[in-house]
Amino acid sequence: MYKVIAISGYSGSGKTTISEMLLKKINNIVYFDFGFLFRPLTYYLINELKLNEEEIKKMVLEKKLDQQIKFSYKIINNKVEIGINNYFYDYHVLNTPQMNMNTVTVGTIIGDHLNGFLKKIIDNLKQNSNVLLNARRPVAAYPEVDYHIFLESSFVQRVKRKILMNQESYEVTVKKLKERDEKEKNSGFWEKYNFTKTINTTTLSKDEVLEKVMEIINNEFTYFNNLTLILGAYNCNKNCPYCIAKNNQKFSIDDNLDNLSKIFSELIKNHIRFKRFVVSGNGEPSLYSLEELKKIRDAILEYKELFQLIRIHTSGKIFYEETKFNLFNSLHLPLEFEVLRVALDPKLDMTILGYGNNYLESDLFKNGKIKCDVALTDYLERENLLSQLNNFQRNNDSIKIIRLKQLLRGDKNNTPQATWVKNHSLDDDNIQQVIHELGLEIQNGVYYSSNQKIVYKPSGDYDYDYVINNGQLQNYRNEIYNVMELKRKAKQ
Ligand code: SF4
Repeated sequence: MYKVIAISGYSGSGKTTISEMLLKKINNIVYFDFGFLFRPLTYYLINELKLNEEEIKKMVLEKKLDQQIKFSYKIINNKVEIGINNYFYDYHVLNTPQMNMNTVTVGTIIGDHLNGFLKKIIDNLKQNSNVLLNARRPVAAYPEVDYHIFLESSFVQRVKRKILMNQESYEVTVKKLKERDEKEKNSGFWEKYNFTKTINTTTLSKDEVLEKVMEIINNEFTYFNNLTLILGAYNCNKNCPYCIAKNNQKFSIDDNLDNLSKIFSELIKNHIRFKRFVVSGNGEPSLYSLEELKKIRDAILEYKELFQLIRIHTSGKIFYEETKFNLFNSLHLPLEFEVLRVALDPKLDMTILGYGNNYLESDLFKNGKIKCDVALTDYLERENLLSQLNNFQRNNDSIKIIRLKQLLRGDKNNTPQATWVKNHSLDDDNIQQVIHELGLEIQNGVYYSSNQKIVYKPSGDYDYDYVINNGQLQNYRNEIYNVMELKRKAKQ
């Protein structure tokens, strides 16, 4: 079940900055700043219809607002944008100091009159993702919010922030902020509820505020990163020379899929959540029978609130298995298929990884949401890599993200697989060079391209990743856990 997190508070207390940081921190979240509705609406009423305050009040009182204006919305880069009569205004038009003041005035006049529309949007968004609201009266618009976080800060500190932001004099800033505070206070924008958590940001850095917000959100559930279902068949149509499954061979060949629902149910009962459920490895999942795959699909569906994202690792074969592909792709849950390549050129990739069908051409591949990992090896053509990657993504538009990946050697150093990785994988210095050449910027330990579609995440530790193998909950060192132990470990 997805959550609605609302942030409100004083002007200049950091609502927008923290909301932007949360957007990057929490998986599968859509950001809806109510200003995205009130700003274009304000601009339309004042600058296009040339209405004054009295005329706007009349229009609202006569309930003509949503009769005369057609509202629509779209989601761009995980943010909701609101269209007025199907027109989406430019950000810079809507974000001027004058628009800040006008929006408070118009927002005060409109009050709760558009709450029905706001609620409808939030209900729609919540079907598929968590929702982050940056709003002044969020609970009035959406009484079912799961968390309400209120940010406060001293007047002096807020003045300092506003001067930096708007480049206006001290006197002008103080005057405007006082007026704005007065209006917001009188309009109920500072309302708190019995479940509101207040954070005073006066002396805190952005990261410290973020940490406090995350503490509040995570308090209810214990979150882990990945729960990976490691299938035991060791059966694959590809012959990747770096295959870690063949390298390690450390997981059981038994699957005991009947235990899956039992484990999920225990996890739910103990308020444990995972960012991702990964159906993976030791081979290609689509080589499993339809009956076995249905057991996995049914367990996911029954306990879908356990995970924020479902990820299916595939050799690419599933894109030729329509029934098996649709078993997962039609779940109406956030779901992606992950493939791993060493070369963008299909022929080269097929030769090195020993497979016969160019899955990029399959219709199912084009219909899925794909995360394409590209291994950082000496098979990657480095010249003009950025435009190569961009072109690759443009030509295969079901690929939503390309993740550059450093291959791991696995637990043993002397296997043919480990030797291949040693001989072909780029070392840390070379990888840094690639990151530099691509112009990737680091944010919270992950490197991103400017359009956020190419990422490089250095291999982390897997201490907080868990697996299910042989119908048992384990870690990557094959240590078996029961759910209570898992919970205790999280609290340590
Ligand atoms: S697709 Fe995965 S399981 Fe199959 S050979 Fe390659 S690495 Fe191994």
